[in-house]
Amino acid sequence: MALITTPPPPQVASVMIHPKLINKKQMSKLTFYRTGMTMDKAFDIEIKKLRDNIDHIDQQILDLISQRLTQVQDVVALKKAYNIPVYHPAREEDLISKLRNQARASGIDADFMEEMYRVILRNSRMEQTVEMKQQGVRAGATVLIVGGAGQMGHFFTDLFRTSGYVVRILAEENWNDVAALCKDTDLVLLSVPIHITLETIERIAPHLPSTAILADLTSIKTAPVGAMLKHFTGPVIGLHPLFGPSCASMDKQIIAVTPGRNNDKCEWLIEQLSLWGAVMVSARPEEHDDIMDIVQALRHFATFCFGQFLCRKKVNLERSLEFSSPIYRLELGMVGRLFAQDSGLYSEIIFATPARRNLLKQYVAAMNEQIELVENNDKALFMERFSEVADWFGPFGDQAMRESDFIINKLIERF
Ligand code: NAD
Repeated sequence: MALITTPPPPQVASVMIHPKLINKKQMSKLTFYRTGMTMDKAFDIEIKKLRDNIDHIDQQILDLISQRLTQVQDVVALKKAYNIPVYHPAREEDLISKLRNQARASGIDADFMEEMYRVILRNSRMEQTVEMKQQGVRAGATVLIVGGAGQMGHFFTDLFRTSGYVVRILAEENWNDVAALCKDTDLVLLSVPIHITLETIERIAPHLPSTAILADLTSIKTAPVGAMLKHFTGPVIGLHPLFGPSCASMDKQIIAVTPGRNNDKCEWLIEQLSLWGAVMVSARPEEHDDIMDIVQALRHFATFCFGQFLCRKKVNLERSLEFSSPIYRLELGMVGRLFAQDSGLYSEIIFATPARRNLLKQYVAAMNEQIELVENNDKALFMERFSEVADWFGPFGDQAMRESDFIINKLIERF
């Protein structure tokens, strides 16, 4: 066997061989005669150079994000000075559209760019919200929270206190001190269980200064706003936060506002809630309740029925999740979420009014009607009804596909 005594031509040493084309053993045996380096070593040097470049770019990205945050501080200072809310939907959407176009022009995936910027923007809003939290529109004013030791009461107690308000709490056992607690209050916020809201309004109203705002957080609005107007002659406003006390901030959270009386006197409260990041949506109390019959009562009831059925059938949840499509996981997540919360709150929401209970009966009756399709194995009628509903949903169908695709993709990333 002839021994190779002459070194291979020099260019071999500079040729990069893709690591996948050569196994590791062979690679380490190969010697680059010119440099005396193994291929592992050459690869290490090349990759280090490339990684150093990437690290350098990452550092630049971080520096730029840090510069962006500094600019945001200036925006916060300006917004504070002018009492402007943190969230500016139009500005954000303009920015996203512009960035999508810029991304396309630079050959970057526009969805990727949008997603990245949504994270940056959310972070920026959260920072601003934290800053704004310190700012009380009426810092020093006195707020009495009835039911302040409960879940929502506690949430708002924290917010008002952080923003420099004097917060008093009226709990179940404090009614003997009601006169002292109400004295000179600027705002009375009712946060008691729904079923005692009306009697609580009647009970507290005679003790309030006529200049105080009387507001409530009840998940239904017609009866409480009616009762506040009936028993109190001063400013009245109904509020319904469409979020629970576990949310980390009010950023982009919706609060339904149902005006009652002397809206101008209630303006500072709306301004304060907006400064904390909430998006205020105004409605008449009756309109609010009609919408909530669907958005909350019907949805929670349907979820309850689904969970109850799974439980009755003793479905093996873990095993079913192993086979789950993202949609099933999402649905089960919503069902599991409901049962992980307070049954008292949901029972209050679902059974709040006779109109609501009637709607739920209609819903169950409508479901029963669909059983005839199953009994008759009537696929044609099923498809006919399906198209009818699809037509009725109209353009929302496309939006629903886009939004649910987004959530599903997020779930796939996670699980
Ligand atoms: P909760 O049961 O946690 O709190 C109610 C508080 O009221 C408790 O501390 C209770 O001890 C107190 N209380 C009971 N009777 C009282 C009385 N006679 N006088 C003074 N205090 C009394 O309930 P919650 O979930 O905080 O709900 C409060 C209100 O907020 C309800 O109107 C509800 O519809 C509304 N809301 C709740 C949520 C939510 O997710 N929890 C969301 C939106 C709106």
